[in-house]
Amino acid sequence: QYLDAIAKTDSTVNSYITVDGEQALAQARAVDARIAAGETLGPLAGVPLAIKDNICTAGTRTTAGSQILRDYVPTFDATAVSRLRGAGAVFLGKTNMDEFGMGSSTENSSYQPTRNPWDSERVPGGSSGGSAAAVAAHECAAALGSDTGGSIRQPAHFCGIVGLKPTYGRVSRYGLISYASSLDCIGPMAHTVEDAALLLNSIAGGDTHDATSSGRPAVDYAAGLAPALAAGGSRPLAGKRIGLVSQTLGEGVAPAIDAAVRAAARHLESLGATVEEVSLPTFGQGLPAYYVLALSEASSNLSRYDGVRYGARSPAAADLASLFAGSRAEGLGGEVKRRILMGTYALSAGYYDAYYKRAQQVRTLVQQEMVAALAEGRCDALLSPVAPSAAYRLGEKSSDPLAMYKGDLMTVNVNLAGLPALVLPAGFVPEGGAELPIGLQLVGRAFDEAGLLGLGYAYE
Ligand code: GLN
Repeated sequence: QYLDAIAKTDSTVNSYITVDGEQALAQARAVDARIAAGETLGPLAGVPLAIKDNICTAGTRTTAGSQILRDYVPTFDATAVSRLRGAGAVFLGKTNMDEFGMGSSTENSSYQPTRNPWDSERVPGGSSGGSAAAVAAHECAAALGSDTGGSIRQPAHFCGIVGLKPTYGRVSRYGLISYASSLDCIGPMAHTVEDAALLLNSIAGGDTHDATSSGRPAVDYAAGLAPALAAGGSRPLAGKRIGLVSQTLGEGVAPAIDAAVRAAARHLESLGATVEEVSLPTFGQGLPAYYVLALSEASSNLSRYDGVRYGARSPAAADLASLFAGSRAEGLGGEVKRRILMGTYALSAGYYDAYYKRAQQVRTLVQQEMVAALAEGRCDALLSPVAPSAAYRLGEKSSDPLAMYKGDLMTVNVNLAGLPALVLPAGFVPEGGAELPIGLQLVGRAFDEAGLLGLGYAYE
């Protein structure tokens, strides 16, 4: 059914870079055989998923949206993928993305732009735009995305689905093609909070292959949702305190988004929660700090693409230096090159203190301020929009990188702080003759994905 949906709609939506129908059917038949044999099945047995193309899948091409990896077929699964495989999931294919995760609209893919299923003239968001569009267009049951500065959450908002960026370290990064290692997170994108919880159940937990993954035991994120809601009666969120981040409302935010987030706050109150405005004075400093740090880390991570060890190699090279230069010139796209240059500059000897070190200091302040707002006795979660606008038109921001970067204002601080954040569909807003979906963002305490999902489940 999902392969039929892909055949029917993906020539317009372009969610997938690679569809592997034969593999998906073979996996589905294997599940059937296990059912016939009376075997016990994993929790995701037969569930057809899409995987963002920067997450390694053994035997299936993994490009990260880049030409330099156009023929790269990993010999191994990312830990998140091997865990989904172990749970019985079926893999339909690999989804489109901004090259190496660098972008907010999926227009920086070197393969194709993905179109928003709600309005094909508009972007699906990014960089996990392919995964978001595939879920929204029912071309998969759910998907994995990755989030370095908002790449799960902003496309979830643009496409009207649920997206969860877990706490840094909750899900192993092993096999996730690195963009900015201190910020990168894998997480679920789905139709409902419960589906997101079911995916998280499979992928969460420590991993000896990723030294930054946490050994804290993962809990069952799905089992408690319905009982907690039922036990709460008509006020399931009684006792919960939600902070509405004042810096994310008002000026610079589309009035319809501002209104929708305030309406969501009232809905949360009607469920028993207390909502109060919270001020985060360093809020606006996060975006410039993020772009210094993410690009610095990227410039280091992407030095591995030299045309020698793996990836595309320039055919014309006469010597080693021109092999490196030619392979990178031919294999990497314009935005990736811009970011490598900026990151290299920020890390260079004369500028390190002024940019990289300063940005790290800002990161600490942003983190401390968010963690303090989320301390016991203060807020259980912080509520804000996901982005200042709903989905914009293809081409509207692609020639203006700064305008594109500014759209990440409300998501990047969460990555700087390493906290979990959940995006929930929050209705539709009128925009240029279209009705576009929007989301709201709830940021939680570190490793409190269960609390965050509980809030989302009640809200939903
Ligand atoms: N849009 C942000 C960037 O370009 C975030 C991307 C991401 O989360 N991968 O860096």
